[in-house]
Amino acid sequence: MSKIVVKFGGTSVANIERILNAAKLIKSKVDEGHQVVVVVSAMSGVTNDLIKKSKEIDQNFDVEEYDALLSTGEQVTSTLFAGALKKMGLKSRSWLSWQIPIVTEGFHSNSRIVSIETTKLNKSLQQGETPVVPGFQGVSKDFRLSTLGRGGSDASAVALAKCIGADYCEIYTDVDGVYTTNPAINPKAKKIDKISYEEMLEMASLGAKVMQSNSVQQGMMNDVEIHVRSTFTNNKGTSITSDDKISYDKVITGVAYSKDDAKITLIGVEDRPGIAASIFKPLYENNISVDMIVQNVSADNKKTDVTFTIKREDLDKSVNLIKKNSNLKFEKINFDDKVAKVSIVGAGMITHPGVAFKMFKALSDQNINILVISTSEIKISVLIDETQTQKAVVAIHTAFDLD
Ligand code: ADP
Ligand code: ASP
Ligand code: MG
Repeated sequence: MSKIVVKFGGTSVANIERILNAAKLIKSKVDEGHQVVVVVSAMSGVTNDLIKKSKEIDQNFDVEEYDALLSTGEQVTSTLFAGALKKMGLKSRSWLSWQIPIVTEGFHSNSRIVSIETTKLNKSLQQGETPVVPGFQGVSKDFRLSTLGRGGSDASAVALAKCIGADYCEIYTDVDGVYTTNPAINPKAKKIDKISYEEMLEMASLGAKVMQSNSVQQGMMNDVEIHVRSTFTNNKGTSITSDDKISYDKVITGVAYSKDDAKITLIGVEDRPGIAASIFKPLYENNISVDMIVQNVSADNKKTDVTFTIKREDLDKSVNLIKKNSNLKFEKINFDDKVAKVSIVGAGMITHPGVAFKMFKALSDQNINILVISTSEIKISVLIDETQTQKAVVAIHTAFDLD
């Protein structure tokens, strides 16, 4: 008998038929003798619809009301799911975040779980119940509802698995595992049997939305074994696990991409100590994360160009902050939000030379121009024109023998 946290994503609970199908899956686990805590997402499309409604009132809708609004999506699913389990003869109930409680800290709409009180949930399990918890939310220390950022139900599931001491956490979704790249844009993508937390964290942070990045980080820090599986097939999924359980036979493990970024270039910036700090200080003060950065070496020691990327949604705010910054002198500002970041990820690249060359060659063979490059120990990212994303992903996937 195992203790398992099972999470269903939006497409897995998109309508009543699918909720009943997912509930049947849970019943079979309980009938096998497992103790199960269910975590659910909002029904597919519901969160987007709620966001749209809030924007119809105000583009900058009040953040506290925004979280209270968005959390309703998951609450609806949790009650329908618990009701479905009861109808099937199981003992069950929904547990809203304030009833447990799941306590969060940090910015509204992007909070993180800091503690989960498990007494009531464990008691419920011991009494033979199957608790159903709405994902993506918690309650802040001042008793306001909070949400965990898009895709945050994964983080709820992993945090619950850690706190109740589950044997593992199952993420049920609309693909049957983590693939070498998004199978929706490259039919040649292959399923990965096992992937390390580190690689999955990079893949997720770089755009592979099959797992939310915070959830992978939580899993890694607390050694929570995560299995990604399909709600709609019985296929074996992907295990996300520690490095020592994996042998690396490929130079790279996967290709990820994201279209969430925008690029800003400051031309003719004064080249003096402290200039980079004065560009980035106001961005940091306004909670804007900067990702890739390139500063050219100035030819005359007087002027240089600085290019960096930020989240696309932060573009207007960033440009305004830079224009208003009286500590900064530059000749011109250019920006572009039609860019994509394509990345290769793999622990194998630490021991294999020539990985960057191979990636750049694959892109040049397709006549794709690289705008910005950034690297870390187990990843290389390039920024390219957004329209060439799929072509780039497919070419790189082939170049590294992942097809
Ligand atoms: P859920 O609603 O179940 O949380 P998501 O839409 O958040 O599901 O994540 C699943 C989707 O992630 C898949 O449908 C797939 O298109 C996308 N995806 C992106 N990269 C990958 C990848 N490397 N492997 C598998 N799926 C991926
Ligand atoms: N419903 C939320 C979202 O769409 C959280 C989740 O599905 O994980 O982002
Ligand atoms: Mg998701």
